[in-house]
Amino acid sequence: TSPIDTQRQLEMRLMPYGDHQRLLVIRDITLLVRLENMRRDFVANVSHELRTPLTVVKGYLEMLSDPSQMDPAMWQQVHRMLVSQTDRMDSLVSQLTELSSLESARQSKGSQRIDVSQLLAIVEQEVDAVYRDKQLQVTFDVTPGIDMFGEPRQMRSAFSNLIFNAVKYTPAGRHIEVVWKKVAAGALFSVKDDGDGIEPEHLLRLTERFYRVDKARSRDTGGSGLGLSIVKHALGNHQSELKIRSTVGKGSCFSFEIPSHLLDSRRISEQANES
Ligand code: ADP
Repeated sequence: TSPIDTQRQLEMRLMPYGDHQRLLVIRDITLLVRLENMRRDFVANVSHELRTPLTVVKGYLEMLSDPSQMDPAMWQQVHRMLVSQTDRMDSLVSQLTELSSLESARQSKGSQRIDVSQLLAIVEQEVDAVYRDKQLQVTFDVTPGIDMFGEPRQMRSAFSNLIFNAVKYTPAGRHIEVVWKKVAAGALFSVKDDGDGIEPEHLLRLTERFYRVDKARSRDTGGSGLGLSIVKHALGNHQSELKIRSTVGKGSCFSFEIPSHLLDSRRISEQANES
């Protein structure tokens, strides 16, 4: 007999076999149990994330039920809160939909040429519009002409989530550097910040759905903990992998490489000839 693996879960069933005999059926249900636990956690997380803004919305709606108690300034504040909480629920549902479509997607179907420098210029404008008031020095060092083939929406999501995260989680007065450049095995994208960094015990879990280092802080910035999970799946569909390096007190670097065969080599050689 082999030693019993205590991590495995077995289901045993005694079934009738012929007239007088019984058959013992042993089934390994380890994976099933694990999947069931993941499904339960997922439902609990989604419910929790939706319940929080819903509770706030309900509270404000109750205030609105007695208009005589409301002055215009208060009414405006209530309106602002209702809009921000419904935005939060809307963004959570959009991210969940995005994640579930990414999990079932195969990249090759929607593959198109992506002008990465143009895409990054758009994300740069979006970051600037949202975080104009935050005192940060953000530099974009983007090599033009390194185009890739892939699914544009997924890649936009990957670039955008990483850049927005750096801007969200880096304290004012610090620096962020975004790079897109050619390397031996393909093209490298990296976002480096000199923020507070992330403790090692969190690093491996960052791409799990709903995982946040500091729940309260992340929620204040509108975070749901789904962003990096979306990035991981989007990159997986492009034969790429997210790498995270971080040192507490020094900052973090989120990067990935797009392999050469997904790059538009014609455009790259034209670019090399021009320079
Ligand atoms: P969220 O919606 O909370 O931003 P993400 O999945 O994008 O979720 O990120 C997960 C967590 O990783 C964040 O809550 C934050 O704690 C941490 N994180 C992500 N990017 C950075 C960064 N550049 N610097 C520090 N912490 C980060």
